[in-house]
Amino acid sequence: MQTYSSALTKPLFICGPCSAENETQVLESAYMVQSLGVKWFRAGLWKPRTRPSEFEGVGSKGLEWLKKAKETFGLKICTEVAKPSHVEMCLKYGFDALWLGTRTVANPFSVQEISESLKGVKDVILLVKNPMIPDVKLWLGAIERIEKQSLTTIAVHRGFSLIENTPYRQSPLWRIPLALKQERKDLMILCDPSHIAGRRDLVKDIAQQSANIGFDGLMIETHYDPDNALTDSKQQLSKEDLQTLLNDIHFPKNNEINTSLSVLRDEINEVDKDIILAIKRRMLLSEEIGKIKKEDNLPIFQSERWQEVLNSIISQAENMGLDKVFVKEIYEIIHQESIKTQNIIINKSKE
Ligand code: PEP
Ligand code: MN
Repeated sequence: MQTYSSALTKPLFICGPCSAENETQVLESAYMVQSLGVKWFRAGLWKPRTRPSEFEGVGSKGLEWLKKAKETFGLKICTEVAKPSHVEMCLKYGFDALWLGTRTVANPFSVQEISESLKGVKDVILLVKNPMIPDVKLWLGAIERIEKQSLTTIAVHRGFSLIENTPYRQSPLWRIPLALKQERKDLMILCDPSHIAGRRDLVKDIAQQSANIGFDGLMIETHYDPDNALTDSKQQLSKEDLQTLLNDIHFPKNNEINTSLSVLRDEINEVDKDIILAIKRRMLLSEEIGKIKKEDNLPIFQSERWQEVLNSIISQAENMGLDKVFVKEIYEIIHQESIKTQNIIINKSKE
């Protein structure tokens, strides 16, 4: 069970460049963040890049620059750590928070080593990004390993690497952070709309979506000169963009729930019952079909028939203004369950 200090007021904003590049860039970006009322400053020193030819961060050279940003502007500072030696150096330079990046979180050995290197440390907050694959347990496991050292953790949703057609760099797949929230209601969770969006013009919309569904704050990449940033230049916000986002964003309060909401919720409960009943009816029909397929020695999967079902469903969905990708996904899951049921029927009668 996590308790948060009053320093972590909600909504919490952590802003700053993707990478620390040089002293001027760090201090200019820190000044910009502070002048907009943000209290937490981020900048990556060790950058986990996909390809070795890319800029991999300035490393320990930048520790001094971040410390200076803290002393000059009264900001709390944080950076990414991927191994115990990073932790050790950051602790010497007075870092207030450290974050575990998506690639590190996916590896329990690394998280364990980092967690052990934090033994006995107090007053440092560990931000734990989601792993690249949508696995709530892996994410939660990393948080738990850090919590073993009695440190405060905060989850950060930065999207998932999926092969699907969305305008975003990483898929938001909101159901995964929501499942984490459901499992750990005591945990603060921030959204990193920058890595999800991958594009400056989409950052604000993702940020607002996260606020609408109960996130506790944002980690946003911002740079005093984003077009010339050495990493993630397309997604970093300029001062003007950050100012607009901070002015416009609205975090709803829990007590805004009113009576018309409960009336609508009752109605939703009724619709949900109808959906479950319809699914049950469909599964019973599918079982009957399974028996006939067995008798007539027909294969379970018939590609033309499935295509016909899918086409008809998608065109109905489109006529009703429903998102066709969403409906297709639902039907693929239903179809998978039907195949599973029919397989059980056929295998059973073979015994
Ligand atoms: C970052 O925040 O700059 C970063 C590299 O994050 P992630 O691990 O989410 O890619
Ligand atoms: Mn980045």
